[in-house]
Amino acid sequence: MNHLLNADLHCHSVVSDGTLTPEALAERAAANGVELWALTDHDEVGGQHRAAAAAKAHGMRYLCGTEISVTFIGQTVHIVGLGFDPDDAALVQGLRQTRGGREERAQEMSDGLAQVGIKGAYEGALKYVGNPELISRTHFARFLVETGVCKETNEVFRKYLTEGKPGFVPHRWASLKDAVGWITGAGGMAIIAHPARYKFTPNEEFALFTEFKALGGGGVEVVTGSHSAAEYVTYADMAREFGLAASRGSDFHSPDESHTELGTLPLLPGNLTPVWELLASRIQ
Ligand code: AMP
Ligand code: MN
Ligand code: MN
Ligand code: MN
Repeated sequence: MNHLLNADLHCHSVVSDGTLTPEALAERAAANGVELWALTDHDEVGGQHRAAAAAKAHGMRYLCGTEISVTFIGQTVHIVGLGFDPDDAALVQGLRQTRGGREERAQEMSDGLAQVGIKGAYEGALKYVGNPELISRTHFARFLVETGVCKETNEVFRKYLTEGKPGFVPHRWASLKDAVGWITGAGGMAIIAHPARYKFTPNEEFALFTEFKALGGGGVEVVTGSHSAAEYVTYADMAREFGLAASRGSDFHSPDESHTELGTLPLLPGNLTPVWELLASRIQ
């Protein structure tokens, strides 16, 4: 399995903030020619057994996945985990702890939105929630689009749900050390998700990569739906500089919202170590 593999190792189902079931995602991935798939719900592994079974039914190989919310020097960073044991007790408990607090945060987000005249956002967002422990900003965004406050989810984030905006509530997620530890402790590889999305200075980004590597982190997303072609090159260089393997994933959430379809991104550049080469023994 070299870099030419059609691997899609990042997407979301109704178990977090996607709109499709694990089964529907598997069908869609397979129809798009995905050969190796991973479902990576936010702070959750509740869909892993279903996803693995659905992958098998469609003739795809599978890696267990998740995407953990982390707070690093005051910013939210996402760490993807791949190839771990989804029943590992410390991982399951760590993720449960990370999910805790989303409910209260959602109430506060709703209060903030009410102050600018948007009423009933908590109840409105709940209508879109598939997993009661996983109410996210995405669900609020869907409600604000449905009610005509904004045209699309991206606009909701820009106007209401990001730092300094009325529906934004600062939140403390897992530490980088814990997230990497839970994943590697369960036999998997930790991977920095969509690094170009963060608003770090070059020094802060260097600190993230250095600390991540020192903690036992193994990879970085190079080809993702969140990166431009120029950013593929930037993070391919970073992967080599830090001795990290490279991953590829669409970050697909919904047929209506996601601009990147499952399994359709460019392939990984050839001069990198794909994460699936190092995770060969963990592939189902
Ligand atoms: P939360 O974990 O509740 O903070 O929500 C984070 C999720 O919001 C991400 O995983 C994305 O799915 C979504 N998101 C973040 N920024 C944007 C954006 N600019 N446009 C659309 N969705 C976004
Ligand atoms: Mn999401
Ligand atoms: Mn993410
Ligand atoms: Mn994601």
